[in-house]
Amino acid sequence: MKNNDRTWVEIHLDTYRANIEALKCFLSPDQSFMQIVKADAYGHGALEIAEQALALGARFLGVANSEEGRLLRLQGITAPILVLSPSLETEIASLIDYDLTPTISSWGFAIAMEDHLHHKGKQMPYHLKLDTGMHRSGLSRQEFYKFIEQISKLTELKLEGVLSHYAASENDPDFSREQEECFFELISSIKPQPSFIHLANSSALINGLASCGNLVRLGILSYGIYTHPQQRSLIDLQPVMQFKSRVSLIKDIEKGETCGYNRLWMAEHDTRYALIPAGYADGYDYLLGNRAEVSIGEHCFPVIGKISMDMITAEIGDKPVSVGDEVCLMGGAALQTHAENLVAGYNGSSYELLCQLGRRARRYYYLNGQLCSSSPLSRRDFVPADFSDSKLNSIIEAAVLQRLDSSEIGSIVYREMLSSLFFDKDSDIHYRKGFRHSIKLIEGDSPLHYEVETELSYRKVLDSEYFIVACAQSETALQAYLKRKDVEYRWLMDDNFEINPDSFIVSSIKVNELRLSTDSRHENGCLELRCSHPELNTLLGKEVDFVINTRTIYPRKSHQMSIFITELTKGISLSFSYPEDWTGVECIPIFSGQNRYPKITRSRNIIELSTSPEEWIFTLSGVVFAY
Ligand SMILES: *Cc1c(COP(=O)(O)O)cnc(C)c1O
Repeated sequence: MKNNDRTWVEIHLDTYRANIEALKCFLSPDQSFMQIVKADAYGHGALEIAEQALALGARFLGVANSEEGRLLRLQGITAPILVLSPSLETEIASLIDYDLTPTISSWGFAIAMEDHLHHKGKQMPYHLKLDTGMHRSGLSRQEFYKFIEQISKLTELKLEGVLSHYAASENDPDFSREQEECFFELISSIKPQPSFIHLANSSALINGLASCGNLVRLGILSYGIYTHPQQRSLIDLQPVMQFKSRVSLIKDIEKGETCGYNRLWMAEHDTRYALIPAGYADGYDYLLGNRAEVSIGEHCFPVIGKISMDMITAEIGDKPVSVGDEVCLMGGAALQTHAENLVAGYNGSSYELLCQLGRRARRYYYLNGQLCSSSPLSRRDFVPADFSDSKLNSIIEAAVLQRLDSSEIGSIVYREMLSSLFFDKDSDIHYRKGFRHSIKLIEGDSPLHYEVETELSYRKVLDSEYFIVACAQSETALQAYLKRKDVEYRWLMDDNFEINPDSFIVSSIKVNELRLSTDSRHENGCLELRCSHPELNTLLGKEVDFVINTRTIYPRKSHQMSIFITELTKGISLSFSYPEDWTGVECIPIFSGQNRYPKITRSRNIIELSTSPEEWIFTLSGVVFAY
């Protein structure tokens, strides 16, 4: 692959799938697995890993906190998500709103959550965490019996699972057995038995420590990183993540000269080194200085001197290395660059190395041997060179979210905009209420386009005796219609289709009970329908119901459909329905206003987004459906 990045991360989803298949061989027939996707799936991308895991049969996804779970929900994941760490009471609302299953081991939290659920009239499952020797979170053996008796009296929280966690499943079989026995003893007293019982992480699974329970939590091994040297003989795994860069400069160095900060490496003879534009700012650990190897082509070369913030140096001697050559810093074919071997040099943690590398670099995803997607740097703005529309939209979304992520800014915007518009003066700014827009894509017979039915309805003060529904033939024309006050609804027709009376039809248009008549005319290639009724003037200045139905077409070659909110609106519901055999339709909301996270519900072939009727949505909001 040729990209223009200095350093990047490749995520090989085929390798992940192969790792999962290999791990599944260790599951007994009654066991299923939970894919652990906390910390953005150990730096691999939580959404992408979650999608693969679910396709491979994962029953649950495991995250660290409600925020991680919420993000997956907003990205359209509907599978059960377990929040592994103890949640704070401040996270309860989010757990409930986004259907995230908490892991509970504190009475204070349990009753706070019960209380919230009670107010919402909702019941939710939870998993109970036991401490069998790890001594981090979980109920001790002493606390357990009383706790389970008390918590089972709560009516809104329903026990769905019980879990515990090994302290050293990779290297302490004796202690692990003690934990297993303790766990077994405690769970056997629970009546009735919960649906899910889980103790093993990935190392425990292959070390024969997963016989207790019907669910196994797979983390590090699924990403292809061994946690103990002996595991290589038990299972064949490959690293899913590769961290790469390219040679930016090649230099000579003479015997006795030193390289890098604090002069910690000295040339023993005349030699050459390559400069590689990746440093600890990219997650390449500072402690790897003088300790790691990188691979370029067929050879591995030692990293010499200290790791700089943005650069490292590797001695290449007289080997044929050129500027621009690809360098593999982690993962890949050479064992020297596998995470477990890199961290062995500084007594570090491979879990940490994965998280920190995946956090900084741009990621490229491969599936079926092909580049299938890339995701932007999540914590920095950048302008992509290879943007596609939907990609750009998700970048804009990320940037907007980041900017708006301060509640301070959010409330300033809200105060300034809304209070000055509505509350200080007798303003006659009209906004839409109860906005509903549904778009239905129908397969149809044409090889070039789908058929589309749309319905738009809302309440608004009528301020004119007529209005226009327009079908624009270009982006520029659409922009012009957006600026016109008399245009209530616009549709953009693909450049390649001619606009004619058959390609854009207003099938019905109503204001309250009045059925409006339409008068169409062509204007610079666009279609404008003037909608009016002799009695409309009696409704001027009153709040009325608009209902607009259209039938039109949409090009098959476009793989996305966008709906934009063009006026200030209070309460929104958008729905997109598509042919039943489509899968993997994504929905990327870009909302600004009081609620940036519309509720997303999916059924078989319909995605719906909605906010509560009281919430303001500003213009520049919208949603992109990608398919
Ligand atoms: C992170 C985590 C795991 C995954 O462990 P691995 O060693 O990565 O397989 C399992 N269970 C819990 C509770 C965790 O927090």
